[in-house]
Amino acid sequence: MQDKTPLSPPPVLGHYDRPMWESIRARAMRLQQCKHCNTFRYPPGPTCGYCLSLDFEWQPISGKASIWSWIVFHRQYLEAYTTPYNVISIQLEEGPLMVSNLEGSEPKGSWIGQAVEICYVTLKDGTILPRFCLIQ
Ligand SMILES: [Zn+2]
Repeated sequence: MQDKTPLSPPPVLGHYDRPMWESIRARAMRLQQCKHCNTFRYPPGPTCGYCLSLDFEWQPISGKASIWSWIVFHRQYLEAYTTPYNVISIQLEEGPLMVSNLEGSEPKGSWIGQAVEICYVTLKDGTILPRFCLIQ
C-alpha cells in the first residue's frame, strides 16, 4: 500500500496567493501593501484589514522579524516535519504575523522577542518555504 501522507501541505495558489508563492520561489518574498494606508497584508487577500481599501501593490519585505511565540511538537503529522520540530509565530518588521519554523540554532533562554530573518528551505519535492533563522 502506497503512503498517501503529503510531504507538506501544498501552497494555496488562489488569485491573491499565487504572486506571494512565486516571490517565495524566487527567494524574495513579497506581500501586498495597501496603496491607501501602507499596511502590509498577510495572508494575501482582496481588502486591507485596516482600512478596507481594495488597492494594493506587491512589495518586497525586509525579511526581518521577531519571535512572538513558539512551541516544539513531539508528534509527527507530515513527512517533512520529523520530531521534534518547532513552530514559531513571528511578527514581520512590516507588521503582519506569520507562522513558520525556526531553522538552525535555537535561542539560549527565552525565544520570545528574539530577532530572526527569513531564510528559504527547499523540501524534497521541490517546494520552497519561507522559514526564519536567528540573527546572530
Ligand atoms: Zn489600508
